[in-house]
Amino acid sequence: MKNPYAVSRREFLIQAAASGLILANSGEIGAEAQKPSGKQFDPDQALHELLQGNQRFKNGQTTGPRRSPADFRGLAAAQYPEAIIVSCADSRVAPEILFDVGLGDIFVIRVAGNVVSGAGVTVKGSIEYAVAELNAPLIMVLGHSGCGAVKAAKQHIDAKDSLPGAIDGLVELVKPAVTQSKGDPGDPLENAIRKNVEIGVGVLKNLEPILAPKVRDGRLKVVGAVYDLRTGEVKLV
Ligand SMILES: [Zn+2]
Repeated sequence: MKNPYAVSRREFLIQAAASGLILANSGEIGAEAQKPSGKQFDPDQALHELLQGNQRFKNGQTTGPRRSPADFRGLAAAQYPEAIIVSCADSRVAPEILFDVGLGDIFVIRVAGNVVSGAGVTVKGSIEYAVAELNAPLIMVLGHSGCGAVKAAKQHIDAKDSLPGAIDGLVELVKPAVTQSKGDPGDPLENAIRKNVEIGVGVLKNLEPILAPKVRDGRLKVVGAVYDLRTGEVKLV
């Protein structure tokens, strides 16, 4: 079933664009992206819509929205993603598919281990751009079960060895999640995966100067979640 919010929001944007209320952004860094005046997009509504889409995916009832020629032509002038997803690069974790969303709906940053802490300007700058320029109201850091990057961090802490090339540096960034979750009750890998998400959420909530002020006044929400490869379900952590 379609979320009425999603439809009304898109219809509003399309109508606003047609009537000249929106100064369309070109999608380039520094381009001005203005929402229609007075319209504040709600982080909770955006989260609700994502989770509803995931329920459809999990239940085999996807609708595959917004992927026709009319849709991509309509989006050519501007984008208004309602969420930023920071997910693992794992081939089994495709956010557009598992949230049953379409073109223009989510701004996705994918890097092995969904690393935020220590990931540097490429990841943080991409997130800040989507918040500052595109006004996305929600960020979700999305880990997943059986994550190879977290597994590798765990194994190489235990073995005290190193990995070849840049893989070693990447895995180093995940190691704090393993050490901080050590001794917690439950499965050590699942705990480390969840901790890795929590660390990323913590970093983004406090990231000055763009994200933290918006989080404080409620215009931006940062949440963590884990996707289960077996069930298809995304659960908030
Ligand atoms: Zn992974």
